[in-house]
Amino acid sequence: MNEETLFSKIVKGEIPAEILYQDEQVTAFRDINPQAPTHILIVPNKIIPTVNDVEETDEALLGRLFIVARKLAEQEEIAEDGYRLLVNCGRNANQEVFHLHMHLLGGRQLGPMVSRPRR
Ligand code: AMP
Repeated sequence: MNEETLFSKIVKGEIPAEILYQDEQVTAFRDINPQAPTHILIVPNKIIPTVNDVEETDEALLGRLFIVARKLAEQEEIAEDGYRLLVNCGRNANQEVFHLHMHLLGGRQLGPMVSRPRR
């Protein structure tokens, strides 16, 4: 059993968040520090720390993240203009919370996919 995470506590309602969607597998809530007009985190209810920990048996669960992302994009009325789905993994991607999550970002032109390296 993995240790509790900030997001597993949000899933269980122990820490407040603006929850937009929840089912038996997945929870979605607004990011506390939004980087775009729409910034939603979609997380598996089960704790998977990073993409490195994903297993074959997680296939349907991970697919569910995309289904929920599509529904929320429609609900937020950003589907037509477009949006970005992003999953950080580990140190080089600056992953902060070790409970796998998909960022749904939209509502403005999001610019280049990654920042340029500093000189
Ligand atoms: P990452 O860097 O991919 O691990 O993203 C972690 C995200 O969690 C960041 O965008 C944070 O702003 C967000 N975050 C941290 N604490 C909370 C919280 N209590 N409620 C909602 N989002 C949070």
